[in-house]
Amino acid sequence: MSLWNRAKMIIKMRRKLQGKPSKEISAFLDSAEMESILDEIVTEFNVENLDDIIREIRTLKDSGFYERLIYAFKVWKKIFEPSARLNNEELLNSHFTRLAFENLSHAPLYHPPRTDLITFKVFGAFHRFLEMLYYLEVERNLEYEDMLSIYFSGIDERVTLTLDKFDEVSETPKINSKFFLNLKKVKWKDKNTKKLFDKLHEAMDFAGRFIFNSLPLQFPVAEGYLMIFLTGCSAVNDGRLEINENDIVRGYRSYFKLMKADVTKYKVKKELLNWEGKSKGHLICKKCGGYYKLKAGESPEDFEYCQCGGKLKYYDLDEFTIKKAIKEGWKVGRDKSMK
Ligand SMILES: [Zn+2]
Repeated sequence: MSLWNRAKMIIKMRRKLQGKPSKEISAFLDSAEMESILDEIVTEFNVENLDDIIREIRTLKDSGFYERLIYAFKVWKKIFEPSARLNNEELLNSHFTRLAFENLSHAPLYHPPRTDLITFKVFGAFHRFLEMLYYLEVERNLEYEDMLSIYFSGIDERVTLTLDKFDEVSETPKINSKFFLNLKKVKWKDKNTKKLFDKLHEAMDFAGRFIFNSLPLQFPVAEGYLMIFLTGCSAVNDGRLEINENDIVRGYRSYFKLMKADVTKYKVKKELLNWEGKSKGHLICKKCGGYYKLKAGESPEDFEYCQCGGKLKYYDLDEFTIKKAIKEGWKVGRDKSMK
């Protein structure tokens, strides 16, 4: 449908709806806009499995899940227990996150093609969606253990490398820096590909507005980042640096599959924590609760007192156990609970 015809249709609808409550009118118009964009996509593009994506978009409202997902986005800052947040040092203990951090660009503003299409900021949306999906599954605020499962279970790596097959493969392939270096270089194949992406994104935007009253403005932005990331991964997994129309379909298939999956199935794997093995144990100050990780070559006898003047006690425990104990409110000095 041409822009002109769409405008005429909307004017006609607005007239028909006069007198109805405005919320209802705008929801109706948003759904009409969504339908008209989906019709355009069907007419203009002929891509394998695209009709599945269109069907999924049309059923977003009835499933109820999309509404909950947008809600989770809206309250995102409040979905964590205070002790649950991981700091940067902890996050970068993940091999996967570290490779993304080291190889993707960190441009403060996002302006492709002047900046990379996939920057570290774009990548960040992926983890944010995983957090929201996890939160919706457990139906309570996220705790420290949940965060470890999100960042150290390998689910992020699994989805990145296998996309819509993430729940079918038994072994996750291993990611390397080459993957992110390629992801950094990814571009749209041509204008038409970008057009399909934009139209689907626009249809999702209207679907969101139609489903969720007062859609948070940042939601379509974050969702766009997520989709660019997933479609880019599809290209790189296939050995290409150009995103084509099939990558877009595969990206959306992955997104819709993630919405239906139980992401809590993937539990923290200690070997992914990277905190094990390297530690020579820890010294903990009984007075201030601070702790110090012994480095190679250092021994507990080298340190007797903390900076605060408190006496240090040595624990032959890995950092994971120490941090977990501290996060969970373990009081330093109560030796019994540590044994
Ligand atoms: Zn101290």
